[in-house]
Amino acid sequence: MKNILVTGGAGYIGSHACKALRQAGYMPVTFDNLSTGWADAVKFGPFEQGDLLDRARLDQVFAAYQPIAVLHFAAFSQVGESMQEPGKYWRNNVAGSLTLIEAAIAAGCLNIVFSSTCAVYGDQDGVVLDENSVHMPLNPYAASKRAIEDMLAGFAASDGLNAVIFRYFNVAGADPEGEVGEFHRPETHLIPLLLDAIEGRRPALTVFGTDYPTPDGTCIRDYVHVMDLAEAHVLGLKWLTDGKGSGVFNLGTGTGFSVREVIDEARKTTNRAVPVTEGPRRPGDAACLVSGSVRAEAELGWQAKRSTMKEMVTDAWRWHQTGHYTR
Ligand code: UDP
Repeated sequence: MKNILVTGGAGYIGSHACKALRQAGYMPVTFDNLSTGWADAVKFGPFEQGDLLDRARLDQVFAAYQPIAVLHFAAFSQVGESMQEPGKYWRNNVAGSLTLIEAAIAAGCLNIVFSSTCAVYGDQDGVVLDENSVHMPLNPYAASKRAIEDMLAGFAASDGLNAVIFRYFNVAGADPEGEVGEFHRPETHLIPLLLDAIEGRRPALTVFGTDYPTPDGTCIRDYVHVMDLAEAHVLGLKWLTDGKGSGVFNLGTGTGFSVREVIDEARKTTNRAVPVTEGPRRPGDAACLVSGSVRAEAELGWQAKRSTMKEMVTDAWRWHQTGHYTR
């Protein structure tokens, strides 16, 4: 079995990608510092604890496993936090990625799949975005991801690095088989927070802003099922090992849901009331982020098979009631 180094493999998207890799016949080797991930989410291959900023540790892991590619998920990813602590994002995300890329190149591993974000596009007046839309990052999180994209392009030119860049839209849901799921502490994401509110684990979900220039005044996002996203990574890996070089792909569904629409779907799917309060806008949030995935469909053969709001909420709800991790 060929080894794939998965940074952030103990986190939400990384753990689902490890499952998809293993199902596709690869051995995922998780490299994670457990700052936001969970050791018991590492179920599909070996675990190497370590920090992206620790070059010696990275060199050791590359030498031990000789991976044919890196799937690079490890990053801080909260928009709100990045506005308050930008240094954390530049250090961990940008300097950490630089250390990783240099270690990979030194080890002769020239294939990388990188988790970027739709947030690089900023706010563009409700247009459906594509990969050629201009970049206008609104917060240090998005700016850090954009900087890493530029870094990858530089190393592609200088060292022959091949990079598949995925710009994710909003990730939701959980492994339908219940082996892994979403578990952040603290939780900041819409769907797990509203499921917490339904269960009475928090008093209410606060809607961040009701005065956006959208039909119901709340932010619109394009939600993608985490297993669909995980499968995209396997296709991205195949693209690289087939020698197709670098590529940038948006991963969205082309359909946007407002915060109020997500709440309505959760109410219907769980058949429970969602306690809601209304609050001010969250700094750094775009009004609307929606993309089609024409390129990923045409060139990678990717399809968002599970990404209906009903299926995402159903899988998240099932995991929410049964799944948890421990440190
Ligand atoms: N949101 C909200 N209340 C919350 C958390 C999120 O209204 O407690 C909104 C947020 O403003 C955004 C959407 O839900 O418009 C999705 O936010 P999330 O943090 O889940 O993902 P992001 O868009 O930041 O990647």
